[in-house]
Amino acid sequence: MSRAIYGTIEEEIRALKKERNAVIMAHNYQIGEVQDAADFTGDSLRLAQEARKTNAEVILFCGVHFMAETASILCPDKKVLVPDLEAGCSLADMIRPEDVRQWKAEHPDGLVVCYVNTSAEVKAESDYCCTSSNAEKVVRSIPEDKDVLFIPDFFLGTYVKQRTGRKNMELWRGYCPTHMLIQSRDIEKLRAGHPGAEFIMHPECGCLTKSMHLADRILSTEGMVRYVKESPAREFIVATETGVLHRMRKDNPGKNFIPASVHAVCNYMKMNTLEKIVASLENLQYEVKVPPELAQRAYLPIERMLSIV
Ligand code: SF4
Repeated sequence: MSRAIYGTIEEEIRALKKERNAVIMAHNYQIGEVQDAADFTGDSLRLAQEARKTNAEVILFCGVHFMAETASILCPDKKVLVPDLEAGCSLADMIRPEDVRQWKAEHPDGLVVCYVNTSAEVKAESDYCCTSSNAEKVVRSIPEDKDVLFIPDFFLGTYVKQRTGRKNMELWRGYCPTHMLIQSRDIEKLRAGHPGAEFIMHPECGCLTKSMHLADRILSTEGMVRYVKESPAREFIVATETGVLHRMRKDNPGKNFIPASVHAVCNYMKMNTLEKIVASLENLQYEVKVPPELAQRAYLPIERMLSIV
């Protein structure tokens, strides 16, 4: 198919989507053009919910690898594609299935709660999966007498532990290198320079414990997107990966959004481009397919993640 026929790459993508009966899902951290080309934009939870509902034959997942795996587990009859197989997640790489097995052996009565940012192999070793939107609810749903082993994000785990007051909760010491770049001293400076701005923060931020007392809200990216729409404030300091500001600015043209750190850019999330989307739809590449036996074991924790909202 030639772009000359369609004029723009966006038109070409629309035509290819129709031809392939495909739907494009884009995470809130994708580059703006990719978000604009998507049928659905959101965080991991929203995209997983939309993947499960879609009637399309092909799901092109513009995010990182574990998200496409989750879509493949939820939709085994669909073809799940990613534009770039190298788009992974440093946080997900901080725990392996053998680490989970070892930790469980040390805590035989414990239940494993895994953040969605994990591989399908790690999910298959877990009892519950959660996103940053429902991590607190998931942990609260677990009987008090059960130890909780929370993997892999230490900062999200710390936040949930504090919110729930749960003592019997062990935390894996993984972290997102992108969210580590958001520093409390930058936040303090921004807050002083923009006294009227609201400060919203993602619980993956490495400076969470130091800076949470400054935050008006601690929210998932989807929670942030909703919150800034509803809030009467005109200016916001946003502590998460900078991609989410694209959607905030688009949805709220009269409001001002300031990144807590311009350096909080996930290189993996930025690997997907419009050109790669075209190649993906044209050649039906690169398929992410979780083997049935593994998918079956990973399904229950994911199902729990979707039902505890
Ligand atoms: S921002 Fe962090 S947690 Fe999210 S995909 Fe990138 S490395 Fe993983």
